[in-house]
Amino acid sequence: SSPYDYFLVEKSDARNMLRPRGLFTSKADFGNALLVAGSYGMMGAAVMGARAALRSGVGKLTVHSPRCGYNILQASVPEALFQADHHDIAITDITLKHDYNAVAIGPGIGTHDVTKKALESFIISHSSGKPLLLDADALNCISQRRHLLDALPPLSIITPHAGEFDRLFGEHNTAEERLKTAIEQSAYYQIIILLKGRYTAVVRPDGKIYFNSSGNPGLATPGSGDVLTGIIASFMAQGYIPAVAATLGAFVHGYAGDIAAERHGRYGVLASDVAECTGRAIRDIM
Ligand code: AMP
Ligand code: MG
Repeated sequence: SSPYDYFLVEKSDARNMLRPRGLFTSKADFGNALLVAGSYGMMGAAVMGARAALRSGVGKLTVHSPRCGYNILQASVPEALFQADHHDIAITDITLKHDYNAVAIGPGIGTHDVTKKALESFIISHSSGKPLLLDADALNCISQRRHLLDALPPLSIITPHAGEFDRLFGEHNTAEERLKTAIEQSAYYQIIILLKGRYTAVVRPDGKIYFNSSGNPGLATPGSGDVLTGIIASFMAQGYIPAVAATLGAFVHGYAGDIAAERHGRYGVLASDVAECTGRAIRDIM
């Protein structure tokens, strides 16, 4: 018998996790999130993540990007605050100017040396103990410095796809082997590893594994993962514990993808469609 507990997350599970919104709530009740994302030529990743975070109900959102992202973000996501990096095209200074309820780093940040340094010093000096969310190029940036995973607060979340996972933990030939490594590494670093793909697995340090059932191949499109990061960051900011934010985020993301595929077909789904359908997905799940 297996020492692990496996679960399949279905709509009723997601419904049980979602908290209804009371009539007398204000945006102050829904958290303050920081999304560190974007670089020259990859500002779309920041846009996708930001729109998805807002569509999943975050109370306040700041996007930290290089200066080149200013016009793009202010125009395409006017609801988000823009925090300019000192650098024109890459992220070089990750510092927290507020006590954010959630911090997500990675979509579209690239792997410039300056960005790697900024990420490393941020992780080492991050002392609030609040879990972080690392995705995409943040994972690529630390792939040669895996010891940094040790410095992450417990229950931080990483969200690699198979390629990012293998860059971090070594080549794997099958999804099954990858899952096995994820279980070991999650326990070792005490972090949540959300391994993306068909039936995304949320692997928790306590040995529990949640397989997601929503989604379709329409989600195999650029920016799709950036939308997921925005959704999870938003849920973390709203006070869902990291394990729930990750599991619920994966289900909502897949479900939004299912709505988007009804409208545009599996060939035609854009990540922007998934982001736009996120609010509808939450409503339909509840
Ligand atoms: P990324 O590779 O970072 O853009 O992330 C892709 C996202 O789309 C992840 O959340 C995957 O789980 C999801 N995804 C990709 N392909 C499929 C598929 N065939 N079925 C369900 N979800 C998928
Ligand atoms: Mg990605």
